[in-house]
Parts: sequence; structure tokens; C-alpha cells
Amino acid sequence: MRKWILYFALLTSPFLLMVVVNQATKTKAYTVHVFGEKVSALNTDDSLPSQCTWDCHTNGCSHRDQNVISLGPIDTLRSMIIESLGVSNGDTYQTMNILVLVILWPLLMFGLVVANIELFRNRKKNA
Ligand SMILES: [Zn+2]
Repeated sequence: MRKWILYFALLTSPFLLMVVVNQATKTKAYTVHVFGEKVSALNTDDSLPSQCTWDCHTNGCSHRDQNVISLGPIDTLRSMIIESLGVSNGDTYQTMNILVLVILWPLLMFGLVVANIELFRNRKKNA
């Protein structure tokens, strides 16, 4: 029983943490235009000199030199993932983005963590 509680916590905690961080950093309820439709967002549509906003997504990011964390192998990997999603239109991109990066990839990582924990427990039992 304790094992299943641990696995459930491992599966849900990243999503809960994401919601907590999003809500904690929310300063104002913004409305942005995504593929021609108005949707609510955590960030503004306007361009800001000091930070990335939705404008960076739409018109390209002018903060790229400051965002050193996104440069390098992670940036290349991210571009490869985005290109492999088949970005033919906005709906396809959104669906594939959610399916692969929000559901399938985390499930794969979760499965690998569970397999690793089970392997460790079985080794401990047999030792
Ligand atoms: Zn930016």
C-alpha cells in the first residue's frame, strides 16, 4: 500500500507543483491571442524589455541572449521535438504538444523511475 502511495505522489507531484508555481507567479489575469482566438494567460500580449511575454512567442524573442539556460543542447533537443510533432497548423501543434510533452514523455519518465525503484527494492530483498 505504501508503495502505491509513493508512486501516486511521484506521478502527481510534478503536475501539482506546476499548478502551484503558475498560480503563485500569477500577477494579473491577462487575455492573449492564440491562433486568432482570445484565451486567458499568465502573461501579457505586450512586449516588455525586461522579460519574455507572449509577444516573444508570436513575434520572436528579443531576450534570447539573456536566456542562457535555453541555449545549447537543451535548445537543440527542444527544436527537434517541436519539429517532430508535425507542426502543420495550430490545432495539430497544440494537440501533439499536449500528447507528447505533457502526457507521453512524463509517463515514460514515470515508468523508468518506477522500474528503477522496483529494481532497487528487488536487489535489496535478495541481498
Ligand atoms: Zn523573450
